[in-house]
Amino acid sequence: MSATVTRPKAARRIRLIAAPLAIMPGIVEIQVGRKSTSYFLSRRDSGVKGLDIFVLEKFLTPEVYNLTLTVSGSGRCDCPGHLAYHHCKRVSGMYKLREVGLI
Ligand SMILES: [Zn+2]
Repeated sequence: MSATVTRPKAARRIRLIAAPLAIMPGIVEIQVGRKSTSYFLSRRDSGVKGLDIFVLEKFLTPEVYNLTLTVSGSGRCDCPGHLAYHHCKRVSGMYKLREVGLI
């Protein structure tokens, strides 16, 4: 006899604590289940309408992620998860912030 156990997916949330400014990075917090991670958020000029480039620097670590959000929704991130699976919490969260007009 066999049984398939499906674990419920951990709830994900993203919160923009401070919007990025030209002279100062913003702060974004991503929560997966009970674990929350904070990042400094900087915007880079892409020169193309609808193409947004962001840099996320994880608090108190050397981890830096470069994100690109396109109009088509095929965003990219250079984290190992996105390179392997073509999606990650950072890209989906940043799309959500853009969708609601916060970034
Ligand atoms: Zn990523």
